[in-house]
Amino acid sequence: MDDSSRFVARHVQGLPKSGIRDFFAIVSQMRDAISLGIGEPDFITPYAIRDAAIQALEKGKTSYTDNRGLKSLRDAISGYVEQNYRVSYNPETEIVTTIGVSEALDMVLRAVLNPGDKVLYHEPCYVSYSPSIKLCHAEAIAVQTSAREKFALTATALRAAWQPGCKALLLNFPTNPTGGTASRELLAEIAAFAQEKDLLVLSDEIYSELTFDGAHTSIASLPGMRERTIFLHGFSKAFAMTGFRVGYACGPAGVIDALLKIHQYAIMCAPIASQEAAVEALLHGRDAMLHMRDKYRERRDLIVRRFNELGLPCHLPRGAFYAFPDISPTGLDSLSFAQQLLQAQKVAMVPGTAFGPGGAGFCRASFSTSYENIIQAGDRIGRFLDARQKTTA
Ligand code: PLP
Repeated sequence: MDDSSRFVARHVQGLPKSGIRDFFAIVSQMRDAISLGIGEPDFITPYAIRDAAIQALEKGKTSYTDNRGLKSLRDAISGYVEQNYRVSYNPETEIVTTIGVSEALDMVLRAVLNPGDKVLYHEPCYVSYSPSIKLCHAEAIAVQTSAREKFALTATALRAAWQPGCKALLLNFPTNPTGGTASRELLAEIAAFAQEKDLLVLSDEIYSELTFDGAHTSIASLPGMRERTIFLHGFSKAFAMTGFRVGYACGPAGVIDALLKIHQYAIMCAPIASQEAAVEALLHGRDAMLHMRDKYRERRDLIVRRFNELGLPCHLPRGAFYAFPDISPTGLDSLSFAQQLLQAQKVAMVPGTAFGPGGAGFCRASFSTSYENIIQAGDRIGRFLDARQKTTA
């Protein structure tokens, strides 16, 4: 009998497992299922980037690197962020290479939070935010965004959710799962709020290159914000490099130094071959990245049109690769819709509630799948809705 769970810390026992993974473990066993589920690119990493990793291994580059990451990579990150986000970071003191945004976020939370501190974040959101905060013995304070306001985060909502003890604000634009993003004006309001309340801002910019309409603005680039923002970014989404596990955190040296202490004891460094591949992505990967972005845009337009034709109202996501249709016209809740659709037509979507209670009445459909799959999925969802109408009529 395994009763080892008695050794597990209370705050870890209390954490839910990610519902998405369980759901998709079932989908992966199903024949002919179409998955609009998992949040990773369906593209294989562009060849030149893979080749950079292969060449690194060929040359015998198999060692640890500097804890902060290869100097060549930090130089490339510094140049890339300055050129594309208009914020400049010193590669010697203000940049750390990490195991994806996942590690960067975990390290910065661990570096800044004392037990009982509070962190504001907007929901619906990426599934790891609240657990990552709770793992630091801190309190996660969700700011609900609503369909009525196109899931935009407003300074008014932030102000209403704020409580004494709030130390940090975690932002993600464009947002997983809604595809919403923040205009410069909105960011300026949020920035003014962060300054007024003396909050450290953690800005998860992982989908920023995948902005389809207009330019992406990082809150770090607004006046007075560089000093209080940790810019978190990586290669997983825009460069289709999820398996390389590489990302980075940029920010003022005081916080980056603290983060580095934890990183050097817990992780040491990101894998050297992945770092070499990341240098290639930053220096020469732009065309490949733009090509993938254009494909996502075509698929976005198709899937959103299809959902609306089917009577499931769907706003146009301005970034990332997720559509977030309103499934409430079916009379089903998010989980029942996802379960019944999967059973009846073998199309997998993620219940909106997996991303927080604000996702009730919605499901997430990832369009990082082929155009053909999206057409087929649309047909199957149409059949599912027809059959439901017949049985409920
Ligand atoms: N942040 C968001 C908003 C995400 O959606 C994801 C992955 O889905 C991550 C971070 C994790 O990124 P990485 O692969 O860089 O750890």
